Amino acid sequence: MSSPGSPSPGLPTQEPPSPEQQQLWEPLDSPEPMQPSPAPSVSVMPSLVDVGLQEWPNGWRYEGQFEGNLKHGHGIFQWASGEGLYKADERFGPGVLTYPNGRQDVGLWYRNHLIRLCTEIPGATTMKDHPLYYSSKEELTIPARTYKEKYFWRVNPEEDPFFYPFKELLFDDNYTLPAEIAIYSTDADHLPLTRSYTKEGDRYFFQKEELGDEDEIVKLPIVNQTPLLVQMQIHIYRHRHAEAMLSWDVAAVIAGNREGFGPRGPLECSSEQLITEAGEGNQETVLKILKTNLVSADVADVNGHFSLIGAAAVCNDSIINLLLDNGANVNKLNNEGISALNYSCIHYYPSGCFLHNEIYKVTNKKEPPSVTERKVEDLEMDDDLTTQVKMAKRLSVYDHKIRVGSISFKKASLVASQQEELTWKEEEDAQVHELPNFEESLDDETTVSEIDEESLVSPSVGPPSTGYFESTRSVHHFQFNVSGRQLQQAAHVLSRNQRFKSSAGKSMMTPAFKHNEKVWRIAAMKSEHQKRREIIILLLRRGADPNISTNPIPALFLAMLAGDLSSVKLLLESKADPNTRIRSQIKEIDGLTPLHVSVAIPGKQGVLITELLLNAAANPNKGAYDDDVTYEPDMDIQTEEPTGMILKSPNLMGVPSHYFTPSDIVSIEGGRTPLHIACQREDDHKDAHQIVRLLLLHKADPNLLWSGHSPLSLAIASGNDLAVNELLTNGAEPNLPLTRGLGSAMCTAVNTRYEHKRSLTGRLALILKLLEANANILMPITLTSQVNQAIGTAVDFAYYKYFQDSRIAQTPYHALTHNEREVYNARRELLNFLSNLFRKATVTMERKRFEEIIQQNMQDREIDSALPPLTESEALSFADISLTAKAIFERNAHVAEGNLPILAASEKKSKVQDTAPRRQLFKFKFCYACGRSVGVRLITCSRCKEVYYCSKACKVTAWNEFHKDECYLTKGRPSSKKDGSYGDAGWRSGSSSPSVELDNYSYI
Ligand SMILES: [Zn+2]
Ligand SMILES: [Zn+2]
Repeated sequence: MSSPGSPSPGLPTQEPPSPEQQQLWEPLDSPEPMQPSPAPSVSVMPSLVDVGLQEWPNGWRYEGQFEGNLKHGHGIFQWASGEGLYKADERFGPGVLTYPNGRQDVGLWYRNHLIRLCTEIPGATTMKDHPLYYSSKEELTIPARTYKEKYFWRVNPEEDPFFYPFKELLFDDNYTLPAEIAIYSTDADHLPLTRSYTKEGDRYFFQKEELGDEDEIVKLPIVNQTPLLVQMQIHIYRHRHAEAMLSWDVAAVIAGNREGFGPRGPLECSSEQLITEAGEGNQETVLKILKTNLVSADVADVNGHFSLIGAAAVCNDSIINLLLDNGANVNKLNNEGISALNYSCIHYYPSGCFLHNEIYKVTNKKEPPSVTERKVEDLEMDDDLTTQVKMAKRLSVYDHKIRVGSISFKKASLVASQQEELTWKEEEDAQVHELPNFEESLDDETTVSEIDEESLVSPSVGPPSTGYFESTRSVHHFQFNVSGRQLQQAAHVLSRNQRFKSSAGKSMMTPAFKHNEKVWRIAAMKSEHQKRREIIILLLRRGADPNISTNPIPALFLAMLAGDLSSVKLLLESKADPNTRIRSQIKEIDGLTPLHVSVAIPGKQGVLITELLLNAAANPNKGAYDDDVTYEPDMDIQTEEPTGMILKSPNLMGVPSHYFTPSDIVSIEGGRTPLHIACQREDDHKDAHQIVRLLLLHKADPNLLWSGHSPLSLAIASGNDLAVNELLTNGAEPNLPLTRGLGSAMCTAVNTRYEHKRSLTGRLALILKLLEANANILMPITLTSQVNQAIGTAVDFAYYKYFQDSRIAQTPYHALTHNEREVYNARRELLNFLSNLFRKATVTMERKRFEEIIQQNMQDREIDSALPPLTESEALSFADISLTAKAIFERNAHVAEGNLPILAASEKKSKVQDTAPRRQLFKFKFCYACGRSVGVRLITCSRCKEVYYCSKACKVTAWNEFHKDECYLTKGRPSSKKDGSYGDAGWRSGSSSPSVELDNYSYI
């Protein structure tokens, strides 16, 4: 692109292009003869034939004879002379134009215009104080050698969605260009230069040592992101070595240091004037300057501040149109990376100042350490308005969720909007209109999030930097006394008044605006707010790209956080990227996409905005950059083992493989997806559920992990049962293994950490719901402590968590407070419930296995009739099934038939059992009463030796409740240990320590 354009073919055999021919840093041309001569501005006009002097604003100068007003006869015409960087026969880069009178126009040039000055225009807008402003140190990676540039992929092949091997062919001249094209290709910008030609050209054009290494890649810090200026910077970089040949300080011009040059020339002066006048809204002067065609509508000062942004700042649509009509780039950026559109949006949504807090709160539901702890005093209005208008709660100025005290927005704004239809033609009279006004009730539940759209358009308080209010919502947020309300109403109507708009428009923009009339003042603020919206629409209509400027924050986020549905729509229609990411030095919000934020916006707005984004193809599976962040309720997670418990399991092989078939979904851990945030929401479960449904409908992956959690476990933890249902019916895997020691969804449901989100009934129902959705209670769960780990099940997990809370688990019942007793009782009931489910699940599983083996044997025999039928005992043995289990099947069957078990049958079985080989080794050992297998010492039932207990208490419970019958069905006699005579041992007596030693039992 920046290859030297030379008319000669540049082949080595022919005359090589010399530096002189390349026209680098050569004196600028005098103005072209065809260029229309500007009207003389300074002239000494003789009346008839005379000698005189005529000067043009562009520095031309004629001294000589005149006749009438015409140059006639002899005279000397002087043109300005300049030096600078050229590209393809046009000025492109730093340059100096020197006039005969010693003045100089210094700056960066594009064609005939200065596009960047070396001076600073006072009063330029800056976003440096914005809390979300980040100093972007963008770097551009380019190859050090020019001829490589065209063949340099800026996009990494891995990230390029269209990358395919054929692209490689473009590297080869023979495939891409007609043969011998170099002979007739002279224009580097329009006709392609072959790679080989460019290479040759570079070799002659640059000194050899300037070229750098063949494969060297340089990183160029980019000052201004505007594409033209980026190109210019590359061009400047290419020709950096030639600077030494020049008489003036090129580096100073690039750096914007004007000190070493002469007084400012006419072009510089006019350019400065253009920026200043546009920023002051002086339309006529702007028009005059542009008419001369000497100044670029795009010219910027040394900080990149340009007229369009200035015109946007004062909401002057005429100047904006004028500038754009005169070729201004609607997407130009200043050095801070702000476009006119983004500037307008930031001022339209002044609550953007608090966005950091807002986003953080929205997505984390907790106040972060504030970057912008601004006091109300900072926002304080001057003079007597303050006395009329008292500050509402401090937070309310930027928090959608906080109740706003005495004003009911809904009614107020509805009334206002209905009323304005009627009154808005009635001009000044409107001031005296008595309108039904803001409802006064301190306990009004209305929050800002419930306001209708009209009032949401206007967010809270003006940027503190400007020191005065700019928005309507700021007014809403204050408590008004009676006169204040009337004032407000009157102002609102006045602000819609066309005459007011045009007259107040100019003056109110200046900080000097100090109108004594309160009505006038508030109306001015409202009017300005409306104007800003019009400006935003104008800029979008004229092609402003909402994605070009992301500093301090993309416009889309601003509209979203204000709940401004219509603007979100407008921006998306204007091609705002729904997958953009916030860039911020504040770690908590860096990398969030619009969806991350929208799914957390409270109220219906959140649902609607999420839907808009999803319909605009927002990707619901983009993770935030918060892989290392921990889910807040898990922050203070205890990793210590409960006292007396050692993580050890008697089951060396863990849970038998036939108990649990793992799903083929692999847990992938990453940053939070929008689905995580929606499921994590603790407010507004209904709306959050709507959002979860929308996300799932748009193919959000319900099985991604963040902070160890799946969306399902987060919905369980946050207590959102609607979302749990939605997830379970839409592909969330209930047996997905979670990380960070969280086990599974079932473990989350029984974890004491999240128990306060549901009543006991709710928790029991949740467990059943999970089971119904095929959650497997026998799923192996790894329990981990700092020293060791063991594989158990959700039951072990539940007990582990239970015992970690030693206050509830270890304190004698009578020493617990009333509330603690309730907690204790609920926990015990849940554990009991879980244990019963667990035991039933094991029995079912064993029976299934047993039946499978019998079935298999029958099938085998059909194929091979010689095969002997499997005896029941063999089948039991193959299935690793204890006789107790068998007995339970039978008992259940009998109960179903209405019969009681027959002892004879069991005796028969007992005999069979004697001959059957015992395969206790792989049998899953767990306490037959409570279901635990980790951290307990198991003892067998002393009578049947088929089942295990972890404690005397468990034995008693099991015996009384269900094992007595089973045990009699099996061989042997009841242990002399007088069954049932343990008394009511209950939970309490045996479980003061989780591992109880019982002397009379044999340990395994
Ligand atoms: Zn037990
Ligand atoms: Zn027994």
